[in-house]
Amino acid sequence: TRTQRFAKDELKMLESLLCCLIYPLRNATLFHQALKMAYTDPLTKTNNRTAFNDQVMREIKRAERSEQHLSLIFVDIDHFKSINDEYGHACGDMALASTAAWIKDSVRGSDVVFRYGGEEFVILLTDTNLDAAALIAERIRADIESHTLAYGMDILNITASLGVSSLRGNDSLEGFIKRADEAMYRAKANGR
Ligand code: GH3
Ligand code: MG
Ligand code: MG
Repeated sequence: TRTQRFAKDELKMLESLLCCLIYPLRNATLFHQALKMAYTDPLTKTNNRTAFNDQVMREIKRAERSEQHLSLIFVDIDHFKSINDEYGHACGDMALASTAAWIKDSVRGSDVVFRYGGEEFVILLTDTNLDAAALIAERIRADIESHTLAYGMDILNITASLGVSSLRGNDSLEGFIKRADEAMYRAKANGR
């Protein structure tokens, strides 16, 4: 754009340039779409496991380089199998998508939510220490518990168990994830 009117020959040149641009631009857009699809879980519209594997390594390196905290929350829906068994898979799918939306609503824009497995989510919290991550995890847990889900004539209540870990010096990716996973299982063992 510009304030001055384009001359006829300028317009001609722009048109021929546009013709050259249109295919590369379309390809770039398609490539961007394909990339997005490859990193997104279609059911919950969260980032998928592939995206997590990529991003967690990047964030670990960034946290180490800038000496910032990095924390991780593991979320596992309680007794999810019984939702499928009692109300069917379509209801289970809806419960998963809704839970993902509640989780996304209760975290900051900079915190990324991933679907880690079937009914498991991981949240990566940059620049967040263990205590702050525990507070956020408790907020997410309470948010999930406070929502109700209507399915036909039924009202469902969903709860989840969460575990938190924070990156330590000389930590490995496995250790970082394992501590959150183990904490989540302790929450399960302590009554979900
Ligand atoms: P716990 O409280 O110990 O976590 O029990 P749980 O029933 O949540 O855990 P379990 O691992 O026994 O079952 C998970 C269930 O999640 C089993 C599987 O069929 C279901 N599931 C996984 N992915 C999907 C999905 O995409 N859609 C639906 N509807 N169900 C799913
Ligand atoms: Mg599970
Ligand atoms: Mg579960």
